[in-house]
Amino acid sequence: MAIARLLRSAAKPVPEERDEGAIRAELLVAEFEQSGKGWFWETRKDGSLAYISAVVANSLRCEHSDLLDTDFTSLIISDVDAENGASERSLGFYLSSRVPFKDLVLRAKSKEEVWWSISGRPVHDDVGRFLGFRGIAHDLTEKRRSEVELNRLARFDSLTGLANREMMRRALEDALFSASKRKRRCSLFLLDLDRFKSVNDTLGHPAGDALLRLVSLRLKDVIGDSGQIGRLGGDEFQAVFPDIAGESQLTEIAQAVIDSISKPYYIGSETISIGVSVGIAVSDYDDRTADDLVRDADLALYAAKAAGKGTFRFFQADMHAEARDRQALEADLRQALEEGQLSVFYQPSVELNTQKVVGFEALARWTHPVRGPVSPSVFVPLAEESGLINMLGEWVLRTACLDAAKWPAHVRVAVNLSPLQFANKSLPSLIANALASAELPANRLELEITEGVLLNDDQQVHDMIKSMKSLGVKLALDDFGTGYSSLGYLRKVPFDKIKIDQSFVRGASLPGSRNGAIIRAIVSLAGEFSMETTAEGVETQDELALVKDLGCSLVQGYIFGKPMPADEAQAHVCTGGTAEANGFVRARPQRRRLIRSGVVHHQGKTYPVRLRNISEGGALIECTAKLPDETTLRLDLSIGEPVESEVRWSIENRYGLRFSKELDLTLLGQAQAASPAPTSFIPHYLTAKQEA
Ligand code: C2E
Ligand code: MG
Ligand code: MG
Repeated sequence: MAIARLLRSAAKPVPEERDEGAIRAELLVAEFEQSGKGWFWETRKDGSLAYISAVVANSLRCEHSDLLDTDFTSLIISDVDAENGASERSLGFYLSSRVPFKDLVLRAKSKEEVWWSISGRPVHDDVGRFLGFRGIAHDLTEKRRSEVELNRLARFDSLTGLANREMMRRALEDALFSASKRKRRCSLFLLDLDRFKSVNDTLGHPAGDALLRLVSLRLKDVIGDSGQIGRLGGDEFQAVFPDIAGESQLTEIAQAVIDSISKPYYIGSETISIGVSVGIAVSDYDDRTADDLVRDADLALYAAKAAGKGTFRFFQADMHAEARDRQALEADLRQALEEGQLSVFYQPSVELNTQKVVGFEALARWTHPVRGPVSPSVFVPLAEESGLINMLGEWVLRTACLDAAKWPAHVRVAVNLSPLQFANKSLPSLIANALASAELPANRLELEITEGVLLNDDQQVHDMIKSMKSLGVKLALDDFGTGYSSLGYLRKVPFDKIKIDQSFVRGASLPGSRNGAIIRAIVSLAGEFSMETTAEGVETQDELALVKDLGCSLVQGYIFGKPMPADEAQAHVCTGGTAEANGFVRARPQRRRLIRSGVVHHQGKTYPVRLRNISEGGALIECTAKLPDETTLRLDLSIGEPVESEVRWSIENRYGLRFSKELDLTLLGQAQAASPAPTSFIPHYLTAKQEA
């Protein structure tokens, strides 16, 4: 036998007796086998190995001598044990039937996974007697590993190990097919994590990835074997239930999923909480396709999100109608924009110290021909979803610049920018163009952006901010207090102004609220960076007193004026040049400034107080004792019976009191009106602090 003979001759110590061809062949075999490209083998008539390369012994981690003379088939895992990929016919079959074979893929019997591709042909002597097999093989382990991996990757999500979109698609199709055959129903969950994006953006992608892995473990835990779970991508998951369609059971599962996902996660040193919204669609006894079911579950998910997130919704037929309604509104908005049916209203921004209107915020308005006024909180997101936002934004910007150009030079205009506009590279040139067309100096335009823009803390955002600042326009951070409210932004981004959101301002005047302390911190930090602070949505005198006391420099709210048409805004700032404000809202009876001493009786104790101002309904006092919010006390100003009062709010040693019944102010005698005109912009008692 050729190879065996070669080997035997190689072992002989008399090289000169061997012919040159044999030596060369021996060297070539060794060279080839060492290269890793393959190896030779040779069996005898009975299938025992007359030759096998030493390379094989290496890969099987055994002695070369152990392999020689053993049955070749004994080195191969039996077909029963072999994983898929083993050839239909075994090595034993070919060897015994003495037929040539090619590229037989077999797994070696070894602790580690080793795969070979083996080819061989029978060898006969000169008279045709069968001598055995001779052949070549090569190692397939690496190739197979990557094939298996590719196969796995094609079916599973690499991050979570859950089924991927394609696999889920197949699972849903199978479930539908089997349900319809069995005359049963199956169901589908579409899950979307709430607030995941913020976690990813603020804590970084590694934390986001870790969170997704933990979420997938919890999903597996809750859903278990009752359904197939998959990740579709991002923070979207899906579950197919081939055998569950009952509403109560699905409700139970959905609630269990929501409860589990909403529990806190501990990643590194962070405690993270997120939520999940679930849309549920159940197949019917009809020919509904996988596409139909996915679309229904999607509509149900949209409804769950709209219902405030962290909840689930079953698909209902009228959701299609709602989706159509949204589409119709979108088409109407497109038309309204093209036909100029929108308008811009302006809400004054008032400087507390000078009591002047120093600017207006431009707010888009749409009166639908059939539906009537549609709120910007409805049509702005709609414009964002439908790609109309750039058109809407540009129109508002141009209109606002043109209107502002008619106002006195010290009055600015503020325009809201959607995060989507912010991502548009041509925004700076558009702004420059709007300013130039209106001949409005850049420093009279203020652009309001929300924290949403800054969550993507990438270079593109900072470049955009830089190019806007280089145009000379002002930048305001809008709705501060509604998002992550990271004070870090204030250090990073050169804002000219921070607008504290109305919900924050409103909350601050509630008893026990810590918003006041936070607003004070924001104001003080803003001061350090020479930023202005606007309190948004101030409606009542209490709120006004509070924000002034907290040091806000500007106020925008119904107390000073609702958004008004352009000509009205112009009339306001152009008549007299200062902020005359006839008709602006007053929330409470006028207060009188009056500095006077008195005492309060509270829970059997008496404390000295200083009265700052007073009206028929309430008073502002200073008291060094700690009086709890919402507590009742009696205010004694030596004008007859002490007045029953309730503490409505407090900031440090200042307390806002509400009287239980109206007080006759004439009893106060020398108390004087702090300001002659009830139409003045600033309620008089706000000036008490400066003048006291
Ligand atoms: P925003 O930028 O925070 O605007 C302030 C909103 O608060 C306005 O609502 C304003 O009318 C309202 N507001 C002001 N003072 C008070 C108050 O004392 N009490 C109460 N309850 N509300 C007050 P509006 O006009 O409905 O706008 C809502 C939001 O829609 C705006 O919030 C802004 O985010 C967005 N928006 C409006 N116009 C545009 C626009 O042209 N472009 C973009 N991207 N967004 C816009
Ligand atoms: Mg705004
Ligand atoms: Mg705002």
